[in-house]
Amino acid sequence: MKLLQDRILSQGQVRPGNVLKVDCFLNHQLDVELLDQIGAEFHRIFEKDGINKILTIEASGIAIACMTARHFNVPVVFAKKAKSKNIDGDVYTSTVHSYTYGRDYDITLAQKFLGPEDRVLILDDFLANGKAMRGLLDVCKQAGATVAGIGICIEKGFQPGGDELRAEGYKLASLAIVDSMDDDGHITFRPCTY
Ligand code: 5GP
Repeated sequence: MKLLQDRILSQGQVRPGNVLKVDCFLNHQLDVELLDQIGAEFHRIFEKDGINKILTIEASGIAIACMTARHFNVPVVFAKKAKSKNIDGDVYTSTVHSYTYGRDYDITLAQKFLGPEDRVLILDDFLANGKAMRGLLDVCKQAGATVAGIGICIEKGFQPGGDELRAEGYKLASLAIVDSMDDDGHITFRPCTY
């Protein structure tokens, strides 16, 4: 998606440890117009896949999921990272290793919000080693839900998560795939069309 690639080139910042910072438009300050266009693009790619629910993980995925859900007209459910006393009933849980924080955390989702009748589009802001996505896939498996697609805003193609998921047969669409980035801020993209 050229619009997103251009924004990464103009406003993304490369940080030590292969971290790309995009907090001025994607995951801290939010450019709602850009997010709406991202939602439209995910809708174009997945509209024939019978999606009836969008699943993401807090916090950065929520805005992307909500803006996309407006195009699909389906509910959003998000996995929680914090243990909440507020979740009643049974929950699915999975353990995820955080790329940015370098530690494990549990994700939680109330069982009443995901089940075998669901065809899920999983969305997130970044895909790197795929650990967060494995947690969400695990939750879908526990629920008996069908994973109809995976949509990612920015995949770091030099890390293995995306290619592993493609090799497993998932319909994965990443709107920008970063092939390389260096400390001087040079970023290159892998061509991708869907
Ligand atoms: P993974 O689990 O695929 O290794 O990493 C994906 C998760 O880590 C995403 O949910 C995202 O929040 C975070 N993440 C991974 N790499 C980056 C990065 O380069 N920049 C930012 N801002 N977040 C990242």
